[in-house]
Amino acid sequence: MIQYYVISIQPNLENQSFMLILSSLYMLFSILAESLAKMEETTKRLELTSIMVDIFKQVSPDHIAEIVYLLQGKVRPDYEGVEVGVAEKMAIRAIAKSSGTSQAAIQAKYVETGDLGEAASHILEKKSQTTLFAQEVTVDRVYNTILKMAQVEGSRSQDMKIKYISSLLNDASPTEARFILKILLGSMRLGVAENTIMDALAEAYTGERANRILLEEAYNVSSDLGRVAHTTAKYGLEGLKSFKVTPFSPIRPMLAERIRTESDALSKMGVGFAAEYKLDGERVQIHMADGHVEVFSRKLERITEYYLDVIEAMPDISKSSNIILEAEAVPINTETGEFLPFQNIMHRRRKHGLEKAISDYPVVVNFFDILYVDDQSFLDEVYEKRRQMLQYVIKEGGIARLVPMMIIKTEADIVEFMESSVNAGCEGLMVKATDSIYRAGSRGSQWLKLKQDYQKGVGDTLDLVVIGAFYGKGRRAGTYGTLLLATYDDAQDMFLSICKVGSGFKDEDLDTLYQILNEKILTKVDLRVDSIMEADVWFAPELVIEVVAAEITRSPIHTTGKADGDSGFALRFPRFTGRIRVDKSAEQASTAEEILTLYNGQAKSY
Ligand code: AMP
Repeated sequence: MIQYYVISIQPNLENQSFMLILSSLYMLFSILAESLAKMEETTKRLELTSIMVDIFKQVSPDHIAEIVYLLQGKVRPDYEGVEVGVAEKMAIRAIAKSSGTSQAAIQAKYVETGDLGEAASHILEKKSQTTLFAQEVTVDRVYNTILKMAQVEGSRSQDMKIKYISSLLNDASPTEARFILKILLGSMRLGVAENTIMDALAEAYTGERANRILLEEAYNVSSDLGRVAHTTAKYGLEGLKSFKVTPFSPIRPMLAERIRTESDALSKMGVGFAAEYKLDGERVQIHMADGHVEVFSRKLERITEYYLDVIEAMPDISKSSNIILEAEAVPINTETGEFLPFQNIMHRRRKHGLEKAISDYPVVVNFFDILYVDDQSFLDEVYEKRRQMLQYVIKEGGIARLVPMMIIKTEADIVEFMESSVNAGCEGLMVKATDSIYRAGSRGSQWLKLKQDYQKGVGDTLDLVVIGAFYGKGRRAGTYGTLLLATYDDAQDMFLSICKVGSGFKDEDLDTLYQILNEKILTKVDLRVDSIMEADVWFAPELVIEVVAAEITRSPIHTTGKADGDSGFALRFPRFTGRIRVDKSAEQASTAEEILTLYNGQAKSY
């Protein structure tokens, strides 16, 4: 029988005896590490879920959040911006310090195994583990050390970090060290998505996997899976009712389904719906309360520092100082008033010279929704009421605008509004049901998107995940000549291949992609990737790029939309548009379902 918990023994001075105090139960990190090792071995969602259910059942509610963050390779929710990211060099120095092995020998083992965690476990195996005063390695200790390490700043931070890491490695077994390093280096690839973790939490704490939907609702308004886990473990489903929309906890955005023509909008919505210009910029969620403003991206990351101009203007823009708004920030030529390409915003994504970048690349903020005002959630208010409130609170002028909107009654209305949107430099229209509430975190038919591009070729640009690459030849030697791309299937939580793309890349694109992708190389294909084609190099499925294509065809060599014995879908003549979608996570890429819809639409128009 394995010993699961560390029991602390403390002297009780009053009765001169030792009392066993079970103040809290700490899970040994070795238990978690064993489960992580099992998870690495499987790609099956059901197996992953049941391994997690086992772990969750063993841990005390006070420590469940730590486990959930560690399973995702983080220590806090994304929006807090606490980065674990330790550089390989630093990890090598820490391993050297705890093992007494030279950095060169560690480097050699790293090259041999292809994984620093693996290398560390081999090296530490050789080291005697009989240190008498070794402190127990608990999940809590690992978590808190990593959290402290992620938060140290200042000139001595490097040395401090190495000290923290080696203090853990000193007491860790080889398997524990392997996973500690994987977490630190961000290289733990378990292939578990948020939905799978929520399935396991629902099963472990409520006995019913179907209750995931209630956990998801709490997650949609908090974007903090650790907090959802802790509340479910401690207070059950009843506890989840305490999750409310709150400033500074980002809300998962509502998304839109694609339609191809103006008449599709009428047939889906009936008459009397709203259409808004669809602007091409960056989606921003702006939170203001207690004299403080924060901006979150569509990926729910805190991006406040890139929008200092917006922060400064907010108190003058909004009549309420306690509010959550959604807007599209679009780069603009302030002299001509013309919208500029989306890429201009990316110049603001930098550490140095940020102030200059902000003034060189000005934006206008186009508000389209209000999610909370004066201590009240607006998510359950219908579109019509939210728009009215938005029109009331936003003072247009300067960098603030309301997204142009029209209530559509006839096909002629929408055709005309589409034309004026495109003439104003926008992509097309967003069509919204006037009686729809704001469905956080979901893509449904209450919001539809109609882009001008949809009317040509396949009918849209697609956002696809880079899962692998093939080495370039000739001029492209030394970079990746062709990339293997995938769609996302959220039902299975898998990435399914759809095409190889080798055209549309400028030399500088190839360089940039090479740099980014080299950080994502895996030694074997990711558990969440399903591909019949064998790439030269596999990547963690994280990077999203935009492509266009002439046609969607059926194909036996790709797995998107492939059922047993059937062909999948492939793209004909795919081309990179030049856009790396840093604003999208892999789980926000185009889905297999969207491809099927586009394929069916395509068939109709022939
Ligand atoms: P998608 O991301 O493909 O679902 O398309 C929706 C995206 O269009 C949103 O994430 C916004 O960034 C952007 N967008 C532009 N204009 C609007 C608008 N009027 N309403 C909602 N989203 C808009």
